[in-house]
Amino acid sequence: MTIEDLTKLANEVDVQNIKFPKIRVEKNAVGLVPSYLVANKFKNIVLVFDGNTRKAAGNQIEQLLSDGNFQVTTIELSPNRHGEVIADEQTLMQLIVEMPNNADVILAVGSGTIHDVVRFTGFKMTIPFISVPTAASVDGFTSKGAPLILRGVKKTIQTASPVAVFADIDILKKAPQEMTAAGFGDIIGKYTSLLDWKISYLVGNEPYNQLAADLTRESLEACVNSAGEIAKKEDNGIKILMQSLIESGLVMLVLDHSRPASGGEHHLSHYWEMELLKKDAKQLLHGAKVGIATTIIIDLYKQMVVDLDDNKLSPNLKKFSENFGQIKSLIEELPSSSQIRNMLRKVGGAGTPADLEIDNTLITRSLNEAFHLRKRCTGLFLINQFKQEDIKYPIKKISI
Ligand SMILES: [Zn+2]
Repeated sequence: MTIEDLTKLANEVDVQNIKFPKIRVEKNAVGLVPSYLVANKFKNIVLVFDGNTRKAAGNQIEQLLSDGNFQVTTIELSPNRHGEVIADEQTLMQLIVEMPNNADVILAVGSGTIHDVVRFTGFKMTIPFISVPTAASVDGFTSKGAPLILRGVKKTIQTASPVAVFADIDILKKAPQEMTAAGFGDIIGKYTSLLDWKISYLVGNEPYNQLAADLTRESLEACVNSAGEIAKKEDNGIKILMQSLIESGLVMLVLDHSRPASGGEHHLSHYWEMELLKKDAKQLLHGAKVGIATTIIIDLYKQMVVDLDDNKLSPNLKKFSENFGQIKSLIEELPSSSQIRNMLRKVGGAGTPADLEIDNTLITRSLNEAFHLRKRCTGLFLINQFKQEDIKYPIKKISI
């Protein structure tokens, strides 16, 4: 993906004056941070990390900045009792309380969660932020969306994208394998999110942009073709994965919504996340959930093609019947759930719900309820409109 592609997309969707972040994905990318700060006259710098990402990159950046003429404040976000930093009220408040009043820029050093907390706080305080991902784990680094947990409910708020991204291959390679696998899982979810966007366009008259879909698919295919290199944590594999995650985020940034990158598979993932929060259980990585949810959504859609007699659909689903031929062939083009599972396992991720300790009862519930989470037309939403009985997991037959 080039800047020309993104500019063309911005023109097509009539977005003016969009500023794309400066992006460096390479070895020793963090070494470029000080000169970037100088060039942009940023003097009062805030580094935000947690205990793990301090070790992964925070200390290194602090050291780099100590040689320059910067005033540096470090803020280490505190974990909850499970040892995890959550993007909730407590963490947001810690950052707001510890923020100095004269900050010029904030560096988010860490995972998606640290980015979301910084993104939201920086936006509210009108302070720009720089992204320094420590793992290729999620596609949200470059988007504007900040998924927060507010009063126990996940809510994505559109805020600000980073002014620059310094993705250092040496740092990303050292991230735990499960985090890299989660990034791959988030990308794999594009198989069904892209399909759901198309379904929504055909059935729900939602605006659709072919270039945005094509660019997202290119990122997906680049990762799938490099699964071997990603699995072995080769420089090129990690670079392709990180670039794909960044590109998916950039498409969302231009569109100002997450449609190409988030469909029914993300709704299942969000539902499970909220369930774990309700139970005050340890969280699972976003991309790990998305990867598994993608296998379930694929099984559901392929089963729908088998079980649905579109002649029997009620008249108010006319648009669905009219377009069923096209939707059916798009579903048939999807890889099988076992092909997806093999890819996820190859890169060292979870392959089944049991690997994540997600039980069948919760999956069954999410298949019937998760579509309520967001008003979006997806295959999951539509099946819930014309089902005769609850969808059961494992999916054997759908009563429609
Ligand atoms: Zn995602």
